[in-house]
Amino acid sequence: MVDALMDAGFNCLDTVYPYHEGLSEIALKKCVVERYPRESFKIFDKLPTFAITEESQLEPIFAEQLERCGVEYFDYYLMHNVSGFSEKGWLDVDSFAFTNKKKEEGYIKHLGLSTHANAEFLDNILTVHPEMEFVLLQLNYLDWEDEGIESRKCWEVARKHNKPVMVMEAYKCGFLSDVPKESEGLMKKCNPDKSVVSWAMRFVANLEGVFLVLTGSSSLEQVENNIEEFKNIDPLSDDELNVLKKVSEIINANITVDCTKCRYCVEYCPEEIDISKIFDLYNKEKILGENEWSPIGNAYVNYSKLPGVGIASDCSECEACIEECPQEINIPEVLKDVAKTFETEGYGF
Ligand code: SF4
Ligand code: SF4
Repeated sequence: MVDALMDAGFNCLDTVYPYHEGLSEIALKKCVVERYPRESFKIFDKLPTFAITEESQLEPIFAEQLERCGVEYFDYYLMHNVSGFSEKGWLDVDSFAFTNKKKEEGYIKHLGLSTHANAEFLDNILTVHPEMEFVLLQLNYLDWEDEGIESRKCWEVARKHNKPVMVMEAYKCGFLSDVPKESEGLMKKCNPDKSVVSWAMRFVANLEGVFLVLTGSSSLEQVENNIEEFKNIDPLSDDELNVLKKVSEIINANITVDCTKCRYCVEYCPEEIDISKIFDLYNKEKILGENEWSPIGNAYVNYSKLPGVGIASDCSECEACIEECPQEINIPEVLKDVAKTFETEGYGF
């Protein structure tokens, strides 16, 4: 996957401290750092602000990240998800001062922040921290006018502060690659040559100020498809933008839970419920419509048989997950409906 990417002329690789218990950073070292000259690629890593409770954690975590990645500096380093969700890590501990110092010392070439917060929050934080050089935002055509996520408003704030924008969730962790048939039909009728994913990519890649789109590929096929998309990432026409508005209306009418699959909640659940996975199945089931039996419901049954996992009805309503959710979803409430949807006699419950 790395070789395909590098051969095609792309060279930005993004990693995060906690993903896969550090294996993401180590994989980056093995696949990239140990195989390519240092100046030929750019590494993006992030300070896990949500895991910081004491000043004494900062230096060891940063040193560990450099060591795991096998580098002497990060090309781009971000304060990870600066928001109400992580405020202990940047209000109680001066993490901003720490990362600014690391930049002065040459360990960080460019310093920025990522956030899932709203536009007002972003405006305030960029006013207080004008030294942030760039921002990583959740931007996609579906969240563009969403009142909770405020993609458009966040992008406008970034432009107001003159900050270059990196994009995450361009197709909502795959959600926008599998749109309802009616939406897909509208897209194909307007432009038969473009895939459903292509519409999502072209929407974000052509926004003013966007310098990088994180595509989140998890297979060689996805890398190859993304390379093809970005070779010819022409802007959407006015007609196509109008189609996307209609597509969003259709999808929004069918989305039940606005879960982005960030998985921040999952490790806090004492009942071992894979909330993210279950919500994904639930959303897909709702988009397909109510069914007595569906492959999605079958996938839920298969999930429920895995050793040690909790299912929706195992939720004890302890609410430990709620404050971890950047989308502010009332998780235990939704799980009640998930249980009603999937845990039926028809599925053997
Ligand atoms: S409220 Fe339910 S889903 Fe949330 S952490 Fe508690 S048991 Fe898990
Ligand atoms: S429920 Fe919230 S915290 Fe959990 S995966 Fe979904 S968006 Fe993330």
